Amino acid sequence: MRRLYVFDTTLRDGEQSLGITLNVHEKLEISRQLVRLGVDIIEAGFPASSPGDFESVRQIAAEIKGAVVCGLSRAVEEDVDRCWEAIKVAEQPRIHTGIAVSPVHVDKKLLMTPEQVLEAAVAAVKRAKKHVSDVEFYAEDAFRSDRHFLARVLEETIKAGATVVNIPDTVGYATPWEYGELIGWVMENVKGIERVIVSIHCHNDLGMATANSLAGIKAGASQVEGTINGIGERAGNTSLEEVIMAIYTQKGRYGVQPSIDTREIAATSRLVSRITGVPVPAHKAIVGANAFMHASGIHQDGVLKERTTYEIIDPEVVGIPKNKIVLSARSGRHALRHRLAELGYELEGEELGIAYERFLHLADQKQEVYDEDLHALMGEKPVNGSGRLVLKNVAVATSGQSQATATVTVDLDGTVITDAACGNGPVDAVFKAIERLLGCKVTLEDYSLRSVSRGKEALGDATVKVRVGESGLIIGRGISTDVIEASARAYANALAKARAIH
Ligand SMILES: [Zn+2]
Repeated sequence: MRRLYVFDTTLRDGEQSLGITLNVHEKLEISRQLVRLGVDIIEAGFPASSPGDFESVRQIAAEIKGAVVCGLSRAVEEDVDRCWEAIKVAEQPRIHTGIAVSPVHVDKKLLMTPEQVLEAAVAAVKRAKKHVSDVEFYAEDAFRSDRHFLARVLEETIKAGATVVNIPDTVGYATPWEYGELIGWVMENVKGIERVIVSIHCHNDLGMATANSLAGIKAGASQVEGTINGIGERAGNTSLEEVIMAIYTQKGRYGVQPSIDTREIAATSRLVSRITGVPVPAHKAIVGANAFMHASGIHQDGVLKERTTYEIIDPEVVGIPKNKIVLSARSGRHALRHRLAELGYELEGEELGIAYERFLHLADQKQEVYDEDLHALMGEKPVNGSGRLVLKNVAVATSGQSQATATVTVDLDGTVITDAACGNGPVDAVFKAIERLLGCKVTLEDYSLRSVSRGKEALGDATVKVRVGESGLIIGRGISTDVIEASARAYANALAKARAIH
């Protein structure tokens, strides 16, 4: 069995596509979970792209142990140096540099000759190699490149010191047999390829990213790149959880062994969805809400008689506990702690105390508390690094067709303040009152509300996306059995984050 290295680019290729601005606390939270999942490499960002990205990569490099921390860089010497500045404190730093190699990218985007591309590629790898031994080279749009030119670029960058070469299908154009054939050809024909790790990086434009990645692995690649939940440019990147579980389910078919704790998959998926605000479709493979549900009578009957009739993966393997436990207001602190631990949340001391108070409040409102409610409860976290903001009270009065007045009270850094505002409908009025309280002007780009779990007492889960000036989107999330209160919590959460940035 060959070792398969898992390279996660949720924070680089994933984040860059969403137009959202994750703060460094959020990126660190995702990084820590990726370490628990067992990924080998975390691509933390693109340091030369902005001072904010530089700082996030630097802090992830400083704090994260147990995985390679990688920064992306174009094949430009200043970018390579900047990338090194951000990652040099890491326990295991890697520079990922590269350039496009397909005719359309070389002629039309880069406006360079192939010889100039080759020169820039070699110079970038040599520059990176001055800083660090672990250097990955990417040949952007490799799948649509001229094979012989690709081989030359790979040979020369390997000679220059690249230790990993990445052969992406940047635009998601390949089919599994073609992509597997290309990787096989590279393994056979590129001089020096046996000395390096061959990496694959696929996109999902034709829905084939997972299939193409598996074909690349079968053909000899030892590193797979992708994101959690498949988030990324356009139709997304390869879903790492799909590749991992395809290999797990058909052990031996691919001849590789990743070092992943599959029981962390569900928790990682939920965390990335919560922090990025990108919902996971119910029918999504492995991590969708319906991935292990059996609706038809014939299927239910089959699964009850023998699980494997209709289920190829035991849900517990991906971290979904089998036994359904319903908690209520009579459940003690210990019961809550125990169930949260089974769901992947280890809480102690003050954190547990706060969670227990919110749990009791919730149990008073809706009697039966399901796992989905607990996930929602844990999903709504206080904002780090921006002072303390607690929503104390929301009261709304409506009059006539659409006019409403909202009075909102918050505890801001220990001071309780109240303000009121009018608006078109209750949610608008509440949002305006919160803006007045926090003294923060933002543009609301998106607002959505969905119900968590079941019944008419189900929790409302509100997500807002706001922008301050030219900033990226900032996400706020709030839950409550009252939809107005859920919306208020989400908006206050987003504005508190916006205040922390500006
Ligand atoms: Zn990509």
